[in-house]
Amino acid sequence: MRSNLKALARSELETFFSAMGEPSYRALQTYRRVHRHRARSIDELTELSLALRADLEERVNLPSARVEHRALAEGGTEKFILDVGIEESLEIEAVWIVGRHSRAARGRRTICVSCQAGCSLDCSFCATGRIPFAGNLEAWQIVEQVYTLERLRGARATNVVFMGMGEPFHNYDSVIAAARTICDPDGAGLGQRRVTISTAGVLPAIVRFTDEAQPYRLAISLNHSDPSRRQEIMPIDRRFPLTELLRAARRYTERSRRRVTFEYVMIDGVNMGAADAERLVAIGRSMPCKINLIPLNVVFDGFERPSSERASSFRRRLQQAGVEVFDRGSPGLEVAGACGMLALQREAPANGSGLA
Ligand code: SAH
Repeated sequence: MRSNLKALARSELETFFSAMGEPSYRALQTYRRVHRHRARSIDELTELSLALRADLEERVNLPSARVEHRALAEGGTEKFILDVGIEESLEIEAVWIVGRHSRAARGRRTICVSCQAGCSLDCSFCATGRIPFAGNLEAWQIVEQVYTLERLRGARATNVVFMGMGEPFHNYDSVIAAARTICDPDGAGLGQRRVTISTAGVLPAIVRFTDEAQPYRLAISLNHSDPSRRQEIMPIDRRFPLTELLRAARRYTERSRRRVTFEYVMIDGVNMGAADAERLVAIGRSMPCKINLIPLNVVFDGFERPSSERASSFRRRLQQAGVEVFDRGSPGLEVAGACGMLALQREAPANGSGLA
């Protein structure tokens, strides 16, 4: 079988070239060509002799994602459906997000990557759980999303978030390996603090992430502040209950001396009452954190997006209590590219709602 050059780590490249009788610096030359200069064919590995390139043509491949669909939203945010499979198709979504909601966000170009094709979590408000789960992505298939979007948009991303399809902490090793490649100074060279990994709360993986002192930002999708009700919308809460999750989050902030980000999808009539806000304030005060409030994007199963007045008053309540709250808006909403809408849909829903 041919080796996939994009999938080889630096040390594997060294082994590969030494097995060919080539000096070890070939590995770094090749790594830089592939990951920094984004070579798309062996021909572009210009430091290598023509004879060596011809030899490589026989032994390796350099697969690229195929672009199946693109949908541009107002403001420049764009959703992509990509096929990252090699022999069999494996479709996922990735989103290029142009920040415009706050002064801090302007100038930010964020790529939201998927780490699984589909998702096995089944959160009741999220569209990704509704499509068949087709498995974990390999690290190179995650990194490839970044390279593809940057090429198509003709710019480099300032941030990468693991908030697309799938649960990053159900694919821990590939996600961490992908983040490492994205931040490798000989590759894309993104700052480690510009990479955020988001989890619905896979407790053992949060502990591992903490113990390994991983340098990437950690986000946790809280979505409910009531320990007895979170499981109604997030089945994972039965396995890893909110109280333990919060303990692990606090331990992360203590060990890493960093803030954790909590995401909170505002669902009208479900998690926006006065008591919900109070509990959320208590959580916000219990550890160094910030809270991203996301108005629900997809409407199905009777879940509704709050009016902007209700969303603002919920936000104000937290802010008045001194909790740091962010409102990211819903970039990509009209192309079904916003949070919770990634379900391989080609057509955007007419009314901004999802699969209903
Ligand atoms: N599985 C990981 C990574 C996905 S991130 C996680 O849950 O963190 C996707 C984010 O979008 C999560 O914070 C999730 O809570 C949020 N989300 C899911 N469905 C949504 C919807 N319908 N509207 C708004 N946000 C949603």
